[in-house]
Amino acid sequence: MNKHSWQGVIRAYRDYLPLPAGTPIVSLNEGNTPLIQADRLAEQIAPGAGLRLFLKYEGLNPTGSFKDRGMTVAVSQACGEGAKTIICASTGNTAASAAAYAARAGLRCLVLVPEGKIALGKLAACLAYGAEVIAIDGSFDAALELVREIVARHSIALVNSVNPWRLQGQKTAAFEICDQLGGRAPDWHCLPVGNAGNITAYWIGYQEYGQGLPRLLGGQAAGAAPLVRGEVVKKPESIATAIRIGNPARWHEAMRALDESGGMVAAVGDEEILQSWKWLASLEGLFVEPASATGVAVLHQQIRQGEIDPGGKTVVCVLTGHGLKDPDMALQQAAAPRRLPATMAALEDYLLRRPS
Ligand SMILES: *Cc1c(COP(=O)(O)O)cnc(C)c1O
Repeated sequence: MNKHSWQGVIRAYRDYLPLPAGTPIVSLNEGNTPLIQADRLAEQIAPGAGLRLFLKYEGLNPTGSFKDRGMTVAVSQACGEGAKTIICASTGNTAASAAAYAARAGLRCLVLVPEGKIALGKLAACLAYGAEVIAIDGSFDAALELVREIVARHSIALVNSVNPWRLQGQKTAAFEICDQLGGRAPDWHCLPVGNAGNITAYWIGYQEYGQGLPRLLGGQAAGAAPLVRGEVVKKPESIATAIRIGNPARWHEAMRALDESGGMVAAVGDEEILQSWKWLASLEGLFVEPASATGVAVLHQQIRQGEIDPGGKTVVCVLTGHGLKDPDMALQQAAAPRRLPATMAALEDYLLRRPS
């Protein structure tokens, strides 16, 4: 692929996507995100081990999350079938992505979100793109049940990751990682797990690309860890709103992928997620939304507990969404800016006194 002519994941990986011939392509030139080597973070979580840690920065997709990879394929396919309306349930990023691709294609878009549980940047984007945002007095899981029911009654296209075309698009991130690592898969692939569509898609992608298979390490928030506990969580809780999901739609596919890869899924507390979130920003200059730090948090936990030997390993952590999605949370975590009079004396005094 000529790097100057990137035109989105469908055109880049057409041969790997089973879209019918003649499907119109609805794209925002998503994909082609950087894989960033993170030596300072590697040293923080595995001192002296020679860990080769890479971060797949999916927050740089057009609407700020990896959801765009799947949405371009799902919306293109829906348009090919003549759909006029799309719908989804969402903790926010699927909604923002659906809204953008619907705008691009001239479709009506309904998004159901859990009331009060959607981060500011996601809500703002949905409204700007012109989606009809419906706040449900219930959890994401309740919203998903509703949309599944309504698409059975009306001819509306469902673009949640229960739609298999979403996974087809999302698998392209595994292709990119293999290419970016010079034609081979990493030893470990770490990522947050909510509805479990992404982990399922990555596993499909690595298998189809034939450049080797990583072991998968999934991270769930401790208050929303149905895969770890082996049971539905009725009231999922976490600051990581993108993975606050108690009954994942791709539960069984995810467990199979974890099993086949020789991997594992573990729960990390909100404090551990926030610690990794801070390290990403302060050690590497990567500002992500809290859920997106869960892959790093679970890797750190497993190294600490001796379950993963980082020595000389190549590990990829997926950073699923951009930090600007959740500015409220970021401000809550930070100290307020310092205030000074607008004088050189005050500024110089501050500069020289500040303990470094
Ligand atoms: C959707 C999302 C996830 C979880 O992905 P699943 O496919 O639901 O497991 C994680 N992080 C962010 C930022 C997301 O938007």
